[in-house]
Amino acid sequence: MDLGIAGKWALVGGASKGLGWGCARALALEGVNVVMVARGAEVLDKAVDDLRAETGGKVKLIAVAQDITTPAGREAIWNVAGGPGKDYDIVVTNAGGPPPGDFRDWDRDAWIKAIDGNMLTPIELIKATVDGMAARGFGRIVNITSSAVKAPIDVLGLSNGARSGLTGFVAGASRSKIAGQGVTINNLLPGKFDTDRIRATLPAMAQKQGKTVEEMRAIQQAQIPAGRYGNPQEFGAICAFLCSQHAAYMTGQNVLADGGAYPGSF
Ligand code: NAP
Repeated sequence: MDLGIAGKWALVGGASKGLGWGCARALALEGVNVVMVARGAEVLDKAVDDLRAETGGKVKLIAVAQDITTPAGREAIWNVAGGPGKDYDIVVTNAGGPPPGDFRDWDRDAWIKAIDGNMLTPIELIKATVDGMAARGFGRIVNITSSAVKAPIDVLGLSNGARSGLTGFVAGASRSKIAGQGVTINNLLPGKFDTDRIRATLPAMAQKQGKTVEEMRAIQQAQIPAGRYGNPQEFGAICAFLCSQHAAYMTGQNVLADGGAYPGSF
């Protein structure tokens, strides 16, 4: 299927590895020019070089090594040489998730950091780009959130709270005037994907349950109807579809990609 987005410009946060990388790759393979953001320059530059080789140099790929959650980082993104300024056709909002823990230990600073990264940053990115998209008659925003929005995980309270705030905002903003101007805003909710994020959280979970990391991994995978973790490539393919011409009549949705783990009807 031709997604009909070749030649467009996408901004993808957290794009040096994991789910953001999966989205950047899928879009680039569809002929989309991508500005890829992450803080660590070395890993990001390698990801961009590898993708340049994979796409045979057919699309423009620009690395911006910045913290997307800061005003200075976003200013650098808008001003990057060779980029489209704020005239993006596609924006995939993503950065690292907040740390796990016990809500009794989180002070105001911990909450502000989580809300900044997982709620206010996506809102700032939407605010900066959405009116230009509407004026040009095409726009796709995909926020990478979490299945924890639908089925909260106790140790991820910072994530549950901050991302739920974003979800409420998107439910309203996506249905505003921009819905009639070719702009869609959807959230893509990962369940368990085999990325560094899950590799970083597994040891703590294993220790809590008195299991080895490998035992914990097997237990988690057995709880997923698909019998495995997802991979960034298949996550990216769903993201690219949401960004396609074909997804024009789909907005304000929370799309789960979790191998069937969420047990509800809706
Ligand atoms: P990952 O493999 O750890 O990758 C995170 C990416 O984001 C990296 O490229 C990282 O690079 C970048 N990043 C982190 N903080 C950033 C910042 N402030 N500014 C710019 N880039 C930043 O994580 P992932 O698994 O892809 O997860 C992506 C998102 O999905 C996270 O919010 C995570 O909580 C959420 N999620 C993941 C899963 C899962 O199973 N993997 C499940 C539910 C939700 P640098 O560190 O170099 O900046």
